This record gives sequence, C-alpha cells and structure tokens, in this order.
Amino acid sequence: MSAKKFTPISTLGEFKLIEKLVEGASVNKKLTKLGIGDDAAIIPHLEKTDYVISTDVLDEGVHFDSTYTPLKHLGYKSIVVSVSDICAMNGRATHALVSIAVPNKYSVEHIGALYEGIKNACSNYGIDLVGGDTTSSSTGLVVSVTIIGKVDSGSITYRAGAKPNDLLFVSGDLGAAYAGLQVLEREKYIFDKNTNMQPELVGYEYILERQLKPEARIDIVDRFNKNQILPSSMIDLSDGLSSDVFHICKSSGVGVKIFEEKIPISEITIKTANELNINPTICALHGGEDYELLFTAPLSLREKIESIDGVQPIGHITSKREEVKLVTTLGDEIDMASDGWDSFLTEKSHI
Ligand code: ADP
Ligand code: MG
Repeated sequence: MSAKKFTPISTLGEFKLIEKLVEGASVNKKLTKLGIGDDAAIIPHLEKTDYVISTDVLDEGVHFDSTYTPLKHLGYKSIVVSVSDICAMNGRATHALVSIAVPNKYSVEHIGALYEGIKNACSNYGIDLVGGDTTSSSTGLVVSVTIIGKVDSGSITYRAGAKPNDLLFVSGDLGAAYAGLQVLEREKYIFDKNTNMQPELVGYEYILERQLKPEARIDIVDRFNKNQILPSSMIDLSDGLSSDVFHICKSSGVGVKIFEEKIPISEITIKTANELNINPTICALHGGEDYELLFTAPLSLREKIESIDGVQPIGHITSKREEVKLVTTLGDEIDMASDGWDSFLTEKSHI
C-alpha cells in the first residue's frame, strides 16, 4: 500500500489555499450579491442598500507578539482591521461580533484590557458590539471579529472595476507599520539578550502607533460620499501594496504601473528603514498593515480626489493583464512579484 502524500500548506500560500478550499461552494445570487473574493461580502438589504460583511482573525504568535503588544491596543486593532475591509467596499460598519479563545496564562484583567480596546474602537467608529463567543485555548490567544456594515447599492467599490488609464491613488503614507514592527522586534531581541536593557522607543512613536494602534480610513469614505466621488475599484492595504494592487489587477483583468517617487513614505519610516538597513520602498511595497485605502478612478475625477488631504496618485492602470510594474526613481521598470504579507509563506525573500 502506498503512503498517502500530503501537501504542505506552505506550498500553496494563503490565497491559493482559499481558492482551493472554497472551490465549488454554492452561492445563490438572489441571497448573495457578492461572495468570496473581495474585502467583504455583499448581501442585499433594502432596495437601495446592501449589507457588507467581513471577518478577520488575529492569532498570537502569527499576527501579534504578546511580549510587546498591549492588549488594549490589540483589542482596538482587531476592530479596526475589520472596519477597514468595510471601508474598502465604500461602506459604513455598524455592528461587530467578537469571538475569543483564551489560554489560561491570561487573567480576567488581561482580557478586560483587550475589551477596553474593543469597546473604545466600537465607540470611535460608531459600531454596536452585538455578540461573539468565548472559549479557552490550548495554545495562544485568538481574537476573531466579524463586522457588519451598510453600503448604498450604487456606490459599492469592488476590487474588479479598474479600467486601463484609470489613475491609482493611495491615502496616507505606507511602510510605517512595518518599520514600527521592526523596531519592536529589535528591542525585543536586545531585551532577550539583556533583561536590564530598557526598550529605546522614544522618537519612534508614529511608526509604533501605526503598527500597534492603526486607524481605518472612514474619513476618506465619508469624503467620497460628500464629494460624490466613486472610485472604479478599491482595496484596503492589509497585506502590502504589491500584493494588494495585484488583487485589484487580477480581479479587474488589468495591469498597473506604479512610480516609486510617488509612493508616500513618512520621514520617520525612511529614517528607521535606513537605520535598519532596509530600503524604505521595500517597507512600503511589501510591509503591510498600513490599513490605508488603495483605489482607482478615471482621470476626470483627479482634481476632486486630490482635494482630499493626504490622498495622492501613485500610478495608473494599464491593459496588460496582471502585470505590476514599478518605475524606479532611476527610471528603470521592474516587474513586482506579488509578495506582501502571507502568514503561510514563512520564507520571505526580501524582508
Ligand atoms: P482581507 O485581506 O481583505 O481581509 P483575505 O485575503 O483575508 O481578505 O480574504 C480574501 C477573500 O477570501 C475574502 O472574500 C474572504 O472572505 C475570503 N476567505 C478567506 N478565508 C476564507 C475561508 N477560510 N473560507 C471562505 N472564505 C474565505
Ligand atoms: Mg481587505
């Protein structure tokens, strides 16, 4: 009898694994407007509004390190990352369900701090916490958040919708969350070697906050609605610009050209990256967890969009299917591999 061959998950990676798992899952179009494959699912509600639903898991040791992640921040972040997915559909989050699996090393006070963060975020984003589940964990702490929101049926921004010659815009600045993570990892390493050393975090506040306590860009979605701006496609930057722009290209059947000099990177991110011997552009392209919005729009909307604070064009859409090109500051054109954050792919080539 021949031994059954098992395929390690790492040979597929997150996205191919999801594709494989959900193959053949049935979707009744009357009940579900949009199923798997975007930042959130869309379910019809009333004639002119739909529900937007998304879920995310934060797992100790994979998504956060309990030695330097304050639980209050973790709770806050767990809501933010899901709200960000609702923003990516141009929707408004309204309700949250939070499930936790808690190992016995955590006390009531610890989990209380986690919930302080969760409640703060719910209050800041106008979300009602309406349920969840609580269980013990034999490994690490797991926090899973399901978010429900609403969107005008005519204003949904899918990943599929980018057209050749559309401009590609991004909000805020990129790479800071990754730079913050590297500083935390560095300080942890130094502390592990010598427990008398105190972490050196002064001056890094901005990038640490971007890593530990990010915000979702509901302000941008509000501006879109107020100024009647409807992007042709949109995604939130959770995995990294290179990976997330590829999702837009794949879903839309287009390509993209991004200009390195246009990618917004904060001064402290550049300074920290240089200190750590990392190219700041690499932080912005592959770092992930910035929770900014990446979207496309026709040229005719350029002026309206550029009037939004901190939003800028970084490239344009091309007709070359799934081709992601970066025009470097030296003028070279390079093909970018889709290589952002993937929790299943342990070996990372550049970071
Ligand atoms: P995001 O990074 O925006 O949170 P993901 O990359 O996690 O999105 O997921 C991409 C798509 O795959 C989403 O539509 C999500 O709902 C779906 N998905 C992810 N994991 C699963 C799963 N285990 N079963 C069904 N659908 C999944
Ligand atoms: Mg997303």
